[in-house]
Amino acid sequence: MSGTLKGNWNFPTTIWAGPGRIAELPAACQRAAIARPLVVTDQGLLASPMVRSAAATLGGAPLFGGVQGNPTAAHVEAGLAAYRAGRHDGVVAIGGGAALDTGKVVAFMSGQTRPLWDFEDIGDWWTRADAAGIAPAVAVPTTAGTGSEVGRAGVILNEATHQKKIIFHPLMMPRVVISDPELTIGLPRWVTAATGMDAFVHCFEAFCAPGFHPLADGVALEGMRLIASYLPRACADGADIEARAHMLAAASMGATAFQKGLGAVHAIAHPVGSWFNTHHGLTNAVVLPYVMEFNRKAIAAKCDVIARVLDLPARGFDGVYAWVLGLRRELGIAHTLAEIGVTVGHAAVIGAEAAIDPSASGNPLPVSAADLERIFRAAVLGQLAVAA
Ligand SMILES: [Zn+2]
Repeated sequence: MSGTLKGNWNFPTTIWAGPGRIAELPAACQRAAIARPLVVTDQGLLASPMVRSAAATLGGAPLFGGVQGNPTAAHVEAGLAAYRAGRHDGVVAIGGGAALDTGKVVAFMSGQTRPLWDFEDIGDWWTRADAAGIAPAVAVPTTAGTGSEVGRAGVILNEATHQKKIIFHPLMMPRVVISDPELTIGLPRWVTAATGMDAFVHCFEAFCAPGFHPLADGVALEGMRLIASYLPRACADGADIEARAHMLAAASMGATAFQKGLGAVHAIAHPVGSWFNTHHGLTNAVVLPYVMEFNRKAIAAKCDVIARVLDLPARGFDGVYAWVLGLRRELGIAHTLAEIGVTVGHAAVIGAEAAIDPSASGNPLPVSAADLERIFRAAVLGQLAVAA
């Protein structure tokens, strides 16, 4: 059966998908023209047999495992120091979104002379970068959620300002992705659920974002269909390789689709993550229905399409909304931000920061700082118009 789960894809980058394909990591480095890779990974994976054996296949490539939780500028600096000390010529990033983002940004920064924050995703700031100074990266996701493996950006926390900043450059896209579902079978159920919901929110917000982008819309719809089918299975049985393979694909699809835009869920989740160090996917999963209610009128027609594609028993906004609440319950996702340790203490700041987050501009309805503060407060306290 697993033979049918194998594929080589060429968009949005080179993706080698299928069980066991981690064995092709040396070939991936060769394809990416990396001879002396630095392996960047999460601290929690550093000692894992998965990462150890991957590094061994690369001739004992050095490991940098200084990534922990949400990546910060300090993580990037430490990674850059390791990269330069070892005179590497590329990065192999293995792990969840944090490790992939850090690895991509280390490769990007390796040959730059300007400071990191000069490359925030604002206007054409990315053109400030010296393209010749961007090292290649190979990405190996071990969670199915962020889709960072096919993204052209990394989200890095500025600890001085408590703001998550998006560092963007088109050449930050990994040259080769190894999408091996066997690497995700050991993920705990809650991580599977939280990261899978992140992928769903990427597809959902991208599809609902205004703008003409039928390519992204198509990818987003199929991504949602895969997640609806396979996320409950992957959570029920972590060793379900078919479910794991489809979830990895759906995660890459979410990140491919969201070049169309995201929305208020991500705009709120970013400052919440900065202030409370909450898990990104989990935060999105909790906040989603509160934002859906705010956007209700603007997304009614889109929800009709989603309900048809997911073949839901009830159509339109109500059908999708009820299904989202049911899925959250089934996966054991908290209903309020309070349950994951968030308080209303910083509500005004979070509203203000969410309003200037780049994701806010993709929301189907215009959202002010006051709107976002109100939605945030509702999500902390569990105040949905419709009882969950
Ligand atoms: Zn996300």
